Amino acid sequence: MARQQSAHPDSYYTATANRSLDFPRLQGDAQADACVIGGGYTGLSSAIHLAERGYSVVLLEAERVGWGASGRNGGHCSIGQRQPQDELEGLVGREEARRLWALGVESVATVRELIERFGIECDLKDGCLQVAAKRSDAAWYRRYEDFMRSGYGFDMRYLEGDDLVHLAGTDKFVGGLVEYASAHLHPLNYALGLAAAADGLGVRIFEQSRVEGYDRSRPTRVRTAGGCISADHVVLACNGYLGKLEPRVAGKIMPLNNFIIATEPLAPEAQRQTNPRDLCVYDAKFVVNYWKLSADGRLLFGGGENYTRRFPSDIRSFVRKRMLPIYPQLADTRIDYGWGGTLAVTMNRMPCFGRLEPDVYYALGFSGHGVQIGTLAGKLIAEAVAGTAERFDVMARLPSPAFPGGTLLRWPGLVLGMLYHALRDRFGD
Ligand SMILES: Cc1cc2nc3c(=O)[nH]c(=O)nc-3n(C[C@H](O)[C@H](O)[C@H](O)COP(=O)(O)OP(=O)(O)OC[C@H]3O[C@@H](n4cnc5c(N)ncnc54)[C@H](O)[C@@H]3O)c2cc1C
Repeated sequence: MARQQSAHPDSYYTATANRSLDFPRLQGDAQADACVIGGGYTGLSSAIHLAERGYSVVLLEAERVGWGASGRNGGHCSIGQRQPQDELEGLVGREEARRLWALGVESVATVRELIERFGIECDLKDGCLQVAAKRSDAAWYRRYEDFMRSGYGFDMRYLEGDDLVHLAGTDKFVGGLVEYASAHLHPLNYALGLAAAADGLGVRIFEQSRVEGYDRSRPTRVRTAGGCISADHVVLACNGYLGKLEPRVAGKIMPLNNFIIATEPLAPEAQRQTNPRDLCVYDAKFVVNYWKLSADGRLLFGGGENYTRRFPSDIRSFVRKRMLPIYPQLADTRIDYGWGGTLAVTMNRMPCFGRLEPDVYYALGFSGHGVQIGTLAGKLIAEAVAGTAERFDVMARLPSPAFPGGTLLRWPGLVLGMLYHALRDRFGD
């Protein structure tokens, strides 16, 4: 099997990756109980949980493990589902929403458990703060604090005034909501740790092995340019990078690009002023801004999207423009890195899980919530493959409407919709 290097994108995460893994390219044919397509959190977690149940597993990754969004994201690992519980109750009813909450809580617990069990060093820390610049959003935080405490026994704290300034390190927000059940981490080191764990469990990982297609026979034959895997079960874990591989699913998701910058390391006092409790923070905008400190004291600030195949030519200034209104004191701070990645959103911002004939499981469209839900997806897929699909089906029952216009025409509608929301972010109250 030939080995070949291809690079992770240039980013703060790549510069601080704590291991370098190198897996061969698939050459020739092989058999496995399960073939996982995609080497991000969803694919790696599927591979780990399947291998632990005794299945032989091959994982095929087009580039490098952790090359996709899993190696580039903000590292926020937030409790619950992507949509708030009050909205979920409206969408699927109270009982089903409670099942979704339980899974959302378990998703963060699963991340923590994998990190602990496999000794993954990825700067794991606790605590998440949401902040609102508009009074209407702050009023919703206040109501949501009550709703979660009385309905779910979940402890979040509403803040404003000096309490909020002390926690957020800025006076640009009028309300906040803090809780310490969420976590944050170094996303690429988490992905690489999962890959090392899968490798240790006997998963055969192939990099630079793009799947070109698979047939609908049993066992399924999964083809790359260099070889073919015959497997009874297939897991599709490509999220925003799915492309045309599976047209039966592609129309349910919309790939979009999001961007992050890393400042130079801040002096200890500046770190304390910017993020006194070392939390992950995000705002209430539709095109969300999110930030946290890195282990070496940089501000990692994410925000801004585009919907084309190209990233902005100057990502650093594209994102810096969003950071400075919140932290004007960083105007003279150097920006050392800027990078982007592609994620997948769905119409209702809840992921789509499902199963296609003959035995192809998929989980994607995490809509910016995939650190934990992608990890959970792997666990639920392994359960379903093993014959217990109740919990997978809770996720699979979520409505997942296709984008109007399908894969060809979804772009104009999305761009118009996003522009509308961007204007509301700017001018609405
Ligand atoms: C800039 C940015 C910031 C984000 N911030 C957060 C955050 O703070 N918190 C959060 O929870 N989520 C965040 N997300 C989203 C999160 O990163 C994703 O939801 C998550 O990583 C999805 O994991 P995945 O394994 O499903 O997909 P990915 O990590 O994207 O992996 C998919 C893999 O499939 C491979 N692939 C695709 N096609 C093929 C093929 N034909 N053959 C073989 N392999 C293939 C790709 O090469 C890729 O490596 C962010 C995303 C971005 C881009």
